[in-house]
Amino acid sequence: MFNNDTLKGRTALITGGGTGLGLEIATAYARLGASVMLVGRNEERVQAAAETLNRDGVKAAAAKCDVRNYDEVKAAVEGTVKQFGSLDILINNAAGNFVCPTSELSPNGFRTVIDIDLNGTFYGCHAAYPHLKASKHGGSIISIITMLGVTGWPGAAHAASAKGGILSLSRTLAVEWGGDGIRVNTISPGPIGDTEGVQRMYIDAGKGDLEAKKTALGRFGAKVDIANAAVYLASDLAGYVTGENLIVDGGRWLKYVAA
Ligand code: NAP
Repeated sequence: MFNNDTLKGRTALITGGGTGLGLEIATAYARLGASVMLVGRNEERVQAAAETLNRDGVKAAAAKCDVRNYDEVKAAVEGTVKQFGSLDILINNAAGNFVCPTSELSPNGFRTVIDIDLNGTFYGCHAAYPHLKASKHGGSIISIITMLGVTGWPGAAHAASAKGGILSLSRTLAVEWGGDGIRVNTISPGPIGDTEGVQRMYIDAGKGDLEAKKTALGRFGAKVDIANAAVYLASDLAGYVTGENLIVDGGRWLKYVAA
């Protein structure tokens, strides 16, 4: 669908790049000419993912990084620039979540998810800023959120608060950093059927059909739907798009609001 050189000459750092949507985005970027750095806490997993990509003849590397630790995020950013010569695209994808009624949620549980999702996103943006500003393509930040961060997310106040915060942070940075040539956008996926989370929470629990019917399209999305959105937003095709939240949810949130 996209030309093979859509992202040629660009370097992308993808947090949580060893699994799920992060790996799908990394794979799409690499196939379209980008160099990709995958980071996550599980070093073996990100290394294995990068090696698999390299066997396909693309440029991938990996590093251990816990996004809750600013020094580790900064080291991952600097390592990316050292290895590939630039940093043009930052994908804030790493996240943690669990279902828990708020009355039973411990302050530590709330803080942990805020630390990974919201603080981790801020750390990534902050550490990447000088390099994104220097990008000859114009920098691009894309953070993966969910419309549940906008509508509210009963049973996941921690993740809802974090995702809503990322949306607000992204819109703030879109304005603050627009003059530096950096575009800042978010993607809000709906339920993506071929991810481990949706498989475990809905499909294995026998709630797959019910959840799929909550979308306007009546079906789950696929990882590639999110990767395509991430390619578009990082590319010159979206050169005048910033501060946008691209909803790729099969009309789920609209059906929720319209009901
Ligand atoms: P996933 O496979 O569980 O990916 C999460 C990734 O985050 C893992 O690779 C994990 O790697 C990494 N991670 C977690 N904590 C980290 C930390 N402290 N530091 C660095 N990396 C960390 O989940 P996914 O389904 O692909 O979701 C990816 C993103 O899409 C998330 O932001 C999620 O909220 C969003 N989303 C997903 C769906 C869906 O249907 N799947 C829908 C809406 C939004 P390590 O364990 O190695 O650290």
